[in-house]
Amino acid sequence: MSKFRLTLARRRGEQIAFQHGFDRFPVNPFSIAENEDILVEAKEPGVEGVSGCIVFNDDGVGIIYATDIRSEGFRRFTVAHELGHYFLDGHPEEILKTAPVHFSRAGFTQGDSSIEVEADHFASGLLMPSRLVRESLYTASVGLSGIRCLAQDAECSLTASAIRAAECAPYPMAVIVSRGEHVAYGFLSESFKKLGRLRFLRKGDLLPETATRTFNRSPANVRDRRETCEETTAERWFAGPQVALDEEIVGLGRYGFTLTVLTAENLTEDLGEEEDEEQKLVESWTPKFAYGR
Ligand SMILES: [Zn+2]
Repeated sequence: MSKFRLTLARRRGEQIAFQHGFDRFPVNPFSIAENEDILVEAKEPGVEGVSGCIVFNDDGVGIIYATDIRSEGFRRFTVAHELGHYFLDGHPEEILKTAPVHFSRAGFTQGDSSIEVEADHFASGLLMPSRLVRESLYTASVGLSGIRCLAQDAECSLTASAIRAAECAPYPMAVIVSRGEHVAYGFLSESFKKLGRLRFLRKGDLLPETATRTFNRSPANVRDRRETCEETTAERWFAGPQVALDEEIVGLGRYGFTLTVLTAENLTEDLGEEEDEEQKLVESWTPKFAYGR
């Protein structure tokens, strides 16, 4: 799966949101489906782990999302994911090769099928276009509380918002989702990558010995959605430089996942309003940051 294709999928999602008149949060995937004459229904999934499906019939297109999804944010993400299969080039053809219906497991946890990953990226672009995400991040505090504001504005789950925040953050931010002793996935902001030489964490990697790993040793922390904050370094997490970071940790509940947000707050003050200006700032700080400590 090329990164380029995922970027294209995300941009297509952003484009569809704007074409349907959404230039502020929240973007409503249900009304986009309605505008396209796509019928959306909630149903019993019947198959475990399935978040929804899209049906291409002779008389039209239908989207179904699973009734056992409790979170409104994840329902919206699921419908947006199915819209990805409708709007993304090649998806209907790929699906129709085997059957007129495609079952999805939305939500960035399945890295196996290319159309699933693309549809997830489409959904995150549709619900959280880059420009709106940046606007939201500018007006909020850095780190987990900024991600919570974004989740509220965009009406998306905390995890989906954290991933988008890391992709768009104008300051060094890393987001890691873990389960037990292992990394489920991680995203680093562009300026975080410039902190220095970093070892990337991949799906299935052992979590480094960090406060997150300690937190995960107690399942009640995760299940009861407890929250804690510790100090850490880029060295401890990524075998990178000795840069101090805040490690904010929150349990995500019954599925057993934990969200960790790493930020370096002292590097994020006085960001300019203009994106270009701010990008220049980040770039001019980065060498000092990487070598000056
Ligand atoms: Zn799918």
